[in-house]
Formats: sequence, structure tokens, C-alpha cells
Amino acid sequence: MNAPTPQIAPRATPLIDPFARPITYLRVSVTDRCDFRCTYCMAEHMQFLPKAELLTLEELERLCGAFVDLGVRKLRITGGEPLVRRNIMSFFEVMSRRLGQGLDELTLTTNGSQLGRFARQLADYGVRRVNVSLDTLDHDKFAAITRWGRLPQVLDGIAAAKAAGLRVKINTVALKGFNEDELFSLLDWCAGEGHDLTFIEVMPMGDIGGEDRLDQYWPLSDLRARLAERFTLTPLAERTGGPARYVRLEETGQKIGFITPLTHNFCESCNRVRVTCTGELFMCLGQEDRADLRSPLRDSPGDERLKDAIRAAIARKPKGHDFDYSRGVGGKMARHMSHTGG
Ligand code: SAM
Ligand code: SF4
Repeated sequence: MNAPTPQIAPRATPLIDPFARPITYLRVSVTDRCDFRCTYCMAEHMQFLPKAELLTLEELERLCGAFVDLGVRKLRITGGEPLVRRNIMSFFEVMSRRLGQGLDELTLTTNGSQLGRFARQLADYGVRRVNVSLDTLDHDKFAAITRWGRLPQVLDGIAAAKAAGLRVKINTVALKGFNEDELFSLLDWCAGEGHDLTFIEVMPMGDIGGEDRLDQYWPLSDLRARLAERFTLTPLAERTGGPARYVRLEETGQKIGFITPLTHNFCESCNRVRVTCTGELFMCLGQEDRADLRSPLRDSPGDERLKDAIRAAIARKPKGHDFDYSRGVGGKMARHMSHTGG
């Protein structure tokens, strides 16, 4: 199937939150399950949600469609690992019909393990870019950090994405004592492959059993200073409405992103909300307030109740997040990243 041809369609006026921010970006977790067990993300023996609590693909399609009707222009599918959800390609097919019909971009964040199977279809369904998480290029370290993952499968997946014409952005979680020594090799590899690269500061999300994220915390201010020892960094004005900030390395022309929710406050330009795989709408990644969208989805065949619930929730989107390591456990979010979608 060919990618749908974008057509000019009247756009919905976006929802505006109490701080005058238009909400145009939705991230949706389509499953809490994953074929990896990254040490900073999950405990090895995770208790996953009962299947009946998950939204069906049809419910996810209705929900995403309602958000597009209400002015969302960018949809990012995440998880857990979105590509392990059964029949997820049918969901992408349905959502691809909204491209050019209110929706500007359909994209996903993945660990890359299933891209070998699905990259071509994703491209056919109008996906143009994909974020792939990759924290190391060392086989043993990859197996250690993901517990269940194997590096060659992910590298093959990334190659399949590139071959299918998808633009790849690599997301690397900066981990003290783990990938500090790979800063420049990751950079070189991305430059050689033509991939953008973004570093993420580890966030205090969910109990991961045993590990302490303060031990894993490598501040990006330090990472950036190390980059500046070798390269000239020019900050870029580019903003996505999210926590990422970008620089260009003048010597190579590479664009490097930094996601630093703990050391910077990026909330004033926030344009996004998140829906979990159970249909909970989180208006802020760093706050516990949420709205149940599963009941209005299940209780009513039409979308009006659902849309009313979305509007009511956006009307109480908070001004900013509440991450704070200094408050210890009190400042830690109880839910896992795989539940809300990273
Ligand atoms: N499974 C997919 C993947 O790994 O890309 C999508 C979901 S994953 C939860 C999304 C992103 O969140 C990944 O880039 C992952 O590295 C990041 N992540 C998970 N736990 C994190 C944490 N505690 N702090 C910072 N980033 C985290
Ligand atoms: Fe799975 Fe992604 Fe979490 Fe790793 S970061 S365990 S790949 S959901």
C-alpha cells in the first residue's frame, strides 16, 4: 500500500489549557508489555496489567481519532514496546487515514527489536520518522542493560528502518558508569549512519527492584561539558514543545538533543498529553492527576462523552511537573515509564 497523499483539510482548533498552551501532541502507550527488561525502566519480573484492563485496538483508534478531531496534529505511539502489541499494524493502518485529515505526523518510539518485521509496513502507513532507544553499542553491555535484548536484532531493525526510508533518531539514556565511555563512539556511529541522537537523563519513574536511579544518574550538564571539550556546540532555536533542547556540533554538522526534565523546567511551552494503555489521560508526565477515558469510551458508542471528558481534563492541565530527587521517595513517581509511555 502506498502512503496516503496528504490533502488540505480544515484543521480543528486545538484545545487550549488554562495556561494558554495549545494541546497538539498526543503520546499513547498501546501496551505495558515489552520484550526487554531495561534495568532503569522495569523490574525483571514485572507484574503486567490484566488484558481486560487494556484498551482494545478499536478503542485506541476511537480515542486517538477523538483527539485528532479536537486538534491533535502529532501522534506518537509508545509503550511498553508498541510493536509487540498483537495486530498493531492494523492500528497504524487506521490512523494513517487521518494523515492530512487533521493529523500531520504519525510516529513511534520503539526498542527496535521488531523493526526488521515492521519497518516497511510502517513506511507504507505514512510513518516518516522513528525514535529507537539504544544505550550502548557493546553486545555484552546491551544484554546487561536490557536483560532480554540482543544487540544484532536491534541493529538489523534500525537498518531495516533506514532501508524503508524512515528517518531514525537514536535515544540514549545517559547512565553513570555504564555508557559514559561510549559518548564519542555512539556519536561517531550515528554520524556514519546518518541518525540524529538525543540523550535522556534518567527519570525517577516506578519501582524497578533493587536498582537505585541515583546511582544511575549522569547529569546531562556533565555530558554536554564533555562534548564541548571536543566540539564547538551551537545551541539551536528548534523547539518541539517538549523537554528536548538541541545543539549542532559545528565540526560534524550533527544535531544532538538533550532531554533534561530534572535539571531544567521546560513546562511553559508544553503542548502534549499522554494516554496510558488503560485509557488514563495524564495531563503531565510529572504529576499524578489523571482522567479516566476508558469509562466514557466503553459506556457510550458515540464520542461526545469521551470528548467532554478530554476537554474537562485539559482544563485542569497543571502548570508544571513535580520531579525532585532531593525529596527522595516523595519526589518519585509511582508509575512506570512503560505504563505512561516514555
Ligand atoms: N519500548 C520503547 C523504547 O524503549 O523505546 C518505548 C517505551 S520506553 C518507556 C520510551 C523511552 O523511555 C525509551 O527511550 C527509554 O529509554 C526511556 N526510559 C524508560 N525508563 C526511563 C527512565 N526511568 N528514565 C529516563 N528514560 C527512561
Ligand atoms: Fe521495554 Fe522500552 Fe522499558 Fe526498555 S525502555 S524495558 S524497551 S519499555
